[in-house]
Amino acid sequence: MIDYSRFISHVAKSIKASEIRELLALIRGRKDIISFAGGIPDPVLFPRKELAKIAGVVIEKYGDNALQYSETKGIIEVRETLSDFLARKREIHVDAEDIIVTSGSQSGLDIVSRTLIDPGDIVVTESPSYLAALGAFKMNGARLIGVKVDEHGMRTDLLEDRLKQLGDDVRRVKFIYVIPVGQNPAGTTMDKDRKKHLLEIASRYDLLVVEDDPYSYIIYEEGAEVASLKSMDKEGRVIYMSTVSKILAPGLRIGWIAAEKELIRRFEIVKQYVDLHSPTLNQFIVAEAIKTGVIDDVVSRAVPYYKAKRDTMLKAIQENFPEYVWYTKPIGGLFVFAYVHKPGFDAGALLEKAVKQYKVAYVPGGSFHPEGDGVNSMRINFSYPSHEQIREGIARLGRMIREA
Ligand code: PMP
Repeated sequence: MIDYSRFISHVAKSIKASEIRELLALIRGRKDIISFAGGIPDPVLFPRKELAKIAGVVIEKYGDNALQYSETKGIIEVRETLSDFLARKREIHVDAEDIIVTSGSQSGLDIVSRTLIDPGDIVVTESPSYLAALGAFKMNGARLIGVKVDEHGMRTDLLEDRLKQLGDDVRRVKFIYVIPVGQNPAGTTMDKDRKKHLLEIASRYDLLVVEDDPYSYIIYEEGAEVASLKSMDKEGRVIYMSTVSKILAPGLRIGWIAAEKELIRRFEIVKQYVDLHSPTLNQFIVAEAIKTGVIDDVVSRAVPYYKAKRDTMLKAIQENFPEYVWYTKPIGGLFVFAYVHKPGFDAGALLEKAVKQYKVAYVPGGSFHPEGDGVNSMRINFSYPSHEQIREGIARLGRMIREA
């Protein structure tokens, strides 16, 4: 027998399997368990017919080019379409040369990390923050500092304190990573003053900002303040990334980064060695889906659809959770986040019991907190379960919390 562990790198040994994926694998196909653990779109929103048609059109229209290797940075027509899309949807005015197409935002996070982080550098994130981003930063050797979020987004007053406390080490901070709208996992949205403050701090300390923006296209409250940081950025500090995962189909694995040309060029060189380029056919499909209004159509169906589920969830929580649970009321995105303020409550330790005894699953919040706190928290997804499952599942979860 070969002892493979000798061959495994320190980095690979140091990272833990994603709790979410392990858990989802465990309960997949179990009809008796109601799961709030996923973060995936409801497939009823996938525009199957339209995509089938578009795929045919693309192959016909672009011929072999649609099936061939393509430019690392992304197909020029696709980047031009994305440039229009960003201007129209997010008031981000960049030209095609300021955009690189990535294999989903996850690959964008990896490329940004590889390009910017040296082992021992510091990345400041929200706390809690997106688990797989924290993983990508750590895999590239970053030390993480987590700054609490409240219902107005990252507490930029605390950000400033933390940077001050770093002293000379502040030079090791490379960027501040934020998900300003419909945050995963917290479900919070950053308000305008906080955004301004964040950019002002980044400028004063000479730091970059990575803005991860998958959810701003799905907003439940009209007139909500969701301007992108990138649209407010006058100094070229913001590296913006987004994806079609929540507004078309995650299986396409198409995302993009918009940033200053000089940075895009660096990302491009790194990407050459990561995956050569993102799937050519899928890039053409995404561009066509934008141009023909298919994405707009998905968004206009997704907003009321998820909003109704969010409302069902918030109502069920209000009726079933004890008063010592604090939870977020998202205006966008797919998640509610809850802190159970009861001494000794450990959402991770209780998960097995939740699944086995109460037949309900969630993601324990601890691993979303870069500095090891938040064991009393959980992420609860409302995009995937049905209304009936939401009502019943939240009742089960409420029972579990009371009886814990
Ligand atoms: N960032 C955040 C905040 C996310 O929630 C997700 C998806 N869950 C991603 C990035 C990754 O998205 P993609 O499917 O484009 O890789």
